[in-house]
Amino acid sequence: ETLDKGLEKSKTSFFGKLSKVVAGKSKVDDEVLDDLEEVLVSSDVGVNTTLKVIERIEERVAKDKYLGTDELNKILREEIASLLSETNLGEETEFTVPQDKKPYVIMVVGVNGVGKTTTIGKLAYQFKKQGLNVVLGAADTFRAAAIDQLQVWADRVDVPIIKQSMGSDPASVAFDTLQSAVNQNADVVIIDTAGRLHNKVNLMNELTKVKRVMQKVVEGTPNDVLLVLDGSTGQNAFEQAKQFTAATEVSSLAVTKLDGTAKGGVVIGISDQFKIPVKYIGVGEGIEDLQVFNKFEFVDSFFK
Ligand code: GDP
Repeated sequence: ETLDKGLEKSKTSFFGKLSKVVAGKSKVDDEVLDDLEEVLVSSDVGVNTTLKVIERIEERVAKDKYLGTDELNKILREEIASLLSETNLGEETEFTVPQDKKPYVIMVVGVNGVGKTTTIGKLAYQFKKQGLNVVLGAADTFRAAAIDQLQVWADRVDVPIIKQSMGSDPASVAFDTLQSAVNQNADVVIIDTAGRLHNKVNLMNELTKVKRVMQKVVEGTPNDVLLVLDGSTGQNAFEQAKQFTAATEVSSLAVTKLDGTAKGGVVIGISDQFKIPVKYIGVGEGIEDLQVFNKFEFVDSFFK
């Protein structure tokens, strides 16, 4: 029920608009489809994904000849779940830490302000609750505040953090962090990185170097590159996903701030467009407010 609560705004808005679309209508006609398109786009599902959904519904209307509006919710739900299936495999997709892959290294990327530090803190807390030893690495050395904020979370969760002074080489921090994790036989390493998008080549070079140095310490790392996106920023989140996927190989997504937005549809669009699974969603500022993304629950929360 926390998911329902967290997604209250997305839910009421999306569902509210959806019920208006079919109000007083007995069948799915062009007008209903046009209105539906508008609802999806305004919920930030994204134009491409919206058109895909509409096309699929049109096909079903054509096949069934007469499609009642009662069935629209059901069909919409099936189509959205099927779009998400292509990236999320229908399972809960939280990070699992194989014992033969210790330390399991997660490199976290994303621009400032999206909730990167908060997500790292919440993740560390979840791992710790599972009995795993976590080490944080403050490789966002561009801003002093980033290091300080990560320290605050390290203290709160009570996990070690490896850091250097502001302006030091991020790759060197990553190296120290992995070395320390190996020495203390840690299970999980979470590395924060700077997300300055103003220079794509620099971003790419920096992330590539950080990865290369990690591999020197532990082969095959990072095991995951987690991109954090702010779900309340709609099209900006799409743009950031585009830039980061061009700069580095992103393997999973965390979409934050879904508690404060009427635009939860962004999760559907981004997952569909980039074919990268959404692993976590942020539904608040608290330490517990990170949920493993479950597509069935997510889609259902819109239609309940
Ligand atoms: P960073 O610059 O990307 O590291 O961003 P921070 O982690 O410092 O977060 C920026 C702001 O967003 C802070 O005030 C966080 O409390 C807030 N925040 C992060 N995640 C969420 C979320 O899921 N929901 C809400 N409501 N706020 C969040």
